[in-house]
This record gives sequence, C-alpha cells and structure tokens, in this order.
Amino acid sequence: MPLLEEGLSIDAIAAEVARSPSTVSYWLKRHGLKANGARKYGPKPALDHDSLAALVDRGLSVPAIASELGCPPSRVRYWLGRHSLDTRQSRNRATARAALLEGQRIVELSCRRHGETDHALEGRGSYRCARCRAEQVAEHRRRVKRVLIDEAGGSCRLCGYARCEAALQFHHLDPRHKDFHLSVRGITRSISALRAEAAKCVLLCATCHAEVEAGASTIELFYSPGWIRTTKT
Ligand SMILES: [Zn+2]
Ligand SMILES: [Zn+2]
Repeated sequence: MPLLEEGLSIDAIAAEVARSPSTVSYWLKRHGLKANGARKYGPKPALDHDSLAALVDRGLSVPAIASELGCPPSRVRYWLGRHSLDTRQSRNRATARAALLEGQRIVELSCRRHGETDHALEGRGSYRCARCRAEQVAEHRRRVKRVLIDEAGGSCRLCGYARCEAALQFHHLDPRHKDFHLSVRGITRSISALRAEAAKCVLLCATCHAEVEAGASTIELFYSPGWIRTTKT
C-alpha cells in the first residue's frame, strides 16, 4: 500500500483516494494496517522529482532506480506516477539516440502495445514499431478496399455474392493487364491511383473469378452509360 508507505495520515490518504476518513480507517483496520500518526516510524521522505528525473533520463528501468536508491520498486513506481515520469519513454529515447548515432536502421525499443519489438528508422529520423506500422498499413488497405468495393457495386457482378469482403476480387477487364490487387507488397498507392485501376476492373467473388479465369464463365461488356453487364455461360 504505497500511500501508507509514504507515511500519510488517515486524512491525507482519504483526500488522495477521494473517500471519507472513516472509510479509510475502516479498511485500514480490516487489513490490520495503521496510518501515520498511529505508528512509531516517521513518514518516509518523498522521492523528489529532480533526482528521480535524473535517474529516468539516464535510461534506467524501475528495478535499476530502486536498487540505486535502496528502496522497493513499488515505491519508485508510486513516485514516478506522482511526478508523471515514464521510464519506458526515456529508455527508448536513450536507446534511439545511440542507435541513430551508429546509423542503425532497426533497433529494439519498447512499444506501448507490443512490448520489446523491432523499430525501423523512418524518414524523419525517428524509429517506429514495425508491428504497429504493419497493422496500420493492413487497416488502411482494408479501409480502401471497402471504399472501392462499395464503388464497384458492393457485390460479385456474376452471382451477387457480397457476404465477405476478403472473398471479393477485382478482375481486370483488359486481359493484357494483370488482375488488380490492393495488397501489392510494400506499396501503398494513393486512393486516386487505386480508383483509376479499379475502374478498369469488375468485382467478382473468388469462385466466379476462378471460373472466369478458367474460361467457364465469360463477362460481356456493354460500355453504355457507365455500366457493365456480365453474364455467366
Ligand atoms: Zn507496436
Ligand atoms: Zn460470384
């Protein structure tokens, strides 16, 4: 109980946790604890901001700071929180600075979501979590595909299938062109470029697409005011 470790009185703890002093007193008794004023030892001095910040700036972890100060990690964690200091961020900064000086393109840093993972150097001279980036690219592609699918009518031109976007594909009408994939590895094209490409395609489900490719179905085209008629043979 860090508040007790700080040697706060019942009134001070009550103010800290926004409960009435009688509630605090009740729970202290339930747990066999005593607040300051009722105990022999004086309050432990606060870990002051500046000396904590200096240790954090050196890129030390919570356990390292705790052993430096000779106190339990829970106490360090409590005061880091009180002073809004973040060891993860400053450790990242220190590691990134060193890696940048050495010209490293990939460095292991701590990501808030993914923990210790590879971070890749980006244009602006900062490192970014590779997994966060991959997720964001995938999400961007899903969103763009949803827009293009909607614009292409939202369902398979041959059978009307629309249940799962992952099973809908863009088939190029001009056989000289390759079928169009949104997920060209490593390339994120602009929405307008993708739109122009999608306009030369017809939306098919995976099954109809396979049939068309195998010659079992044909797509008849009528370029009358902007629509395409497709037929199954
Ligand atoms: Zn991440
Ligand atoms: Zn279909």
